[in-house]
Parts: sequence; structure tokens; C-alpha cells
Amino acid sequence: MIVDDEQDVESLFNQRFRRDLKNNNFEFQFAFSAEEAWSFVSNLNPLDIVLILSDINMPGKSGLDLLKEVKDRFPQLKVMMVTAYGDQQNYDRAFALGADDFITKPIDFDALREKINALAGKD
Ligand SMILES: [Mg+2]
Repeated sequence: MIVDDEQDVESLFNQRFRRDLKNNNFEFQFAFSAEEAWSFVSNLNPLDIVLILSDINMPGKSGLDLLKEVKDRFPQLKVMMVTAYGDQQNYDRAFALGADDFITKPIDFDALREKINALAGKD
């Protein structure tokens, strides 16, 4: 699941992972706010989700709020935070809240693909 308030993320991810999506390696669920993401996660079997990749700065609840909610209720669910380069404060807070991994913008999609495949149990 990809959580970001920027709508462009959907076309960007669909484009960069076109082959993976076509091969059914995984599929994306997009949410454009922490609230939308949480309503999705809390209504679904969270084991169906391999990974939540969340932006931090969003209007309304932040990615850190979402991280806390997810880890309180579904501690086993993997959450990767997208941080801005050099944003030590958010990095430290996310780490303290139990974030499993971090990726910086601009996103290295090859590195992200490897991480997703590792979590999905594929090579
Ligand atoms: Mg944002």
C-alpha cells in the first residue's frame, strides 16, 4: 500500500512497476491520506498487505500518526517511511515508533523493488 497526498504518485508507481504489475508479482493499493489508509487497513486482513509505504508530510493525520496506529494494532505489519533527505527529526521519530525501513525521495525504484520482493518472499 502506497500512502501519499500527492496524486501523481499513483501514475508514477504504476509506470515504474509496470512489468511487476503485469506479471502479478504484487499489486498496489493507493491511499491519498493517512485517514484513507487507516480505513483500508483496519477493514482488511492486514496479512494481505505486504508493506505500507508512507509519506510523512500530509494534510490531516501525518505518516507518523499512521505509523503509530498501525504498529499499535498490527505490530507485525511492515511499514516503510518515505523521508526527505536529511530530515533527521522525522527519521528519529519514525524509528522510535517502530518503522521497519526508510527510503528517501527521490525514490530509487530498483532498490524499492528489491525490498518489496524480499518482503513478498520473491526474488
Ligand atoms: Mg506529502
